[in-house]
Amino acid sequence: MPSNSEDVLILGGGVIGLSCALFLLEQGRSVRILEKNTVGGATSLGNCGTLTPSHALPLAAPGMISKALKYMTQADAPFYIKPSTDLSLLDWLLRFSLRCNAKDQRATAMAKAPLLNASRALLQNTIEKYAMQCQFQASGVLYVCNSSQYLDTLSAELPLLTECGVRSEPLDSAQLAAREPALLPDMAGGVFFPDDAHFRPDAYCAELARVVRAMGAVIEEDCEVYSIAVDGDQVRHVETSLGQRQAANVLVALAAWSPAMVKDIGLNLPIQPGKGYSITYTPPTILPKTPLVLTERSVCVTAWQDGYRLGSTMEFSGFDSLLNAKRLAALERGAHEYLHEPFGDEVKARWFGWRPMTYDDLPILGQSPKHRNLFLATGHGMLGMSMSAITGQLLAEQICTRTTAIDLAPYAPGRF
Ligand SMILES: Cc1cc2nc3c(=O)[nH]c(=O)nc-3n(C[C@H](O)[C@H](O)[C@H](O)COP(=O)(O)OP(=O)(O)OC[C@H]3O[C@@H](n4cnc5c(N)ncnc54)[C@H](O)[C@@H]3O)c2cc1C
Repeated sequence: MPSNSEDVLILGGGVIGLSCALFLLEQGRSVRILEKNTVGGATSLGNCGTLTPSHALPLAAPGMISKALKYMTQADAPFYIKPSTDLSLLDWLLRFSLRCNAKDQRATAMAKAPLLNASRALLQNTIEKYAMQCQFQASGVLYVCNSSQYLDTLSAELPLLTECGVRSEPLDSAQLAAREPALLPDMAGGVFFPDDAHFRPDAYCAELARVVRAMGAVIEEDCEVYSIAVDGDQVRHVETSLGQRQAANVLVALAAWSPAMVKDIGLNLPIQPGKGYSITYTPPTILPKTPLVLTERSVCVTAWQDGYRLGSTMEFSGFDSLLNAKRLAALERGAHEYLHEPFGDEVKARWFGWRPMTYDDLPILGQSPKHRNLFLATGHGMLGMSMSAITGQLLAEQICTRTTAIDLAPYAPGRF
């Protein structure tokens, strides 16, 4: 089989690499995906699977610094920064903290929302068009508060979300109880976001892989990319564990692993791994009707026909691969505070993943500032599933026509 005949080599076979492959194939391009393990087997596997324009507001928000300092003293807090002398992490944290103000929060939300809104619609179209079996449901997502303090904070965010084009339905305690019988009584209230949705993330990736293979994509698994070889402003080839691979264009979709891959070719990508955990169970008997965000504990609850997942936590501890028992237990403790039946009888999987976090909470999309035939689709942070479809469409447009449906300037790889 020739190893250099494709139009585009895609490095990384997570939801982003797979989605870019799909839209490139739709534009008539041939693609080859190089994946060091199995496609969809890393961060795209055990996440919560919610598709959430409601998450348009960034993590860097007014009040976040004092919250983070408080959390530093709690071993099981939902947000944790491991003390470190890693200069890239310290630099990232400094830049992140400088954005914890209302002006930057607003600017980020306004730039994130068009991606999230467009992707939500495009995901549904794509799933329907290719008859993907991934338990997609246009269910909405319900945010639940058990304290009036958090309800006030959440309510204060709604005007900005409305400006972002995100519809919401505030609920008082009685309305919340009537809407969701799985909740314990006497919650303070909540907000329902009707345009959110959810699917099984692992099933969606498997379906993307099925479809792109059927459309002619070559997927090479167990193929680790070692380096990208450039000559001036041109990528020549990539070196992999299976030998050299080359193509007219190369697209980096390596999530948290992207910075290390492009550093040697002069690109600085400020992405830190933001570790999160999930536990998957057999479904409990009282299933929530929609996914839930338990706001005080930052725990997300997602139920499917054949499974039930608690997921959360944001831990900045580098590529630390410990499955931290305290953080996993915190998911269950958090769920206990809100739900009659917080989880199912049998644990199917305990999991962690490294979200590719940029400090400005925007993905990195578009052409390399230094190379004519190198493109980046990375840094999707907490919302890679939600933004995957529009990312694929925009990168395919950029590579094939150089004009995109959404202006890529806010997400430009050269902005750092
Ligand atoms: C607990 C948790 C909950 C989450 N919940 C949600 C949610 O509800 N909704 C949402 O939208 N997002 C959610 N996310 C975020 C989402 O999972 C990520 O943003 C998304 O999976 C990123 O996709 P990706 O393709 O960029 O990364 P990945 O899936 O990590 O793909 C990158 C791929 O590159 C491969 N790779 C790395 N290095 C090499 C190399 N040298 N050579 C070849 N291949 C390589 C990896 O093996 C991997 O398969 C959550 C994340 C976590 C951790």
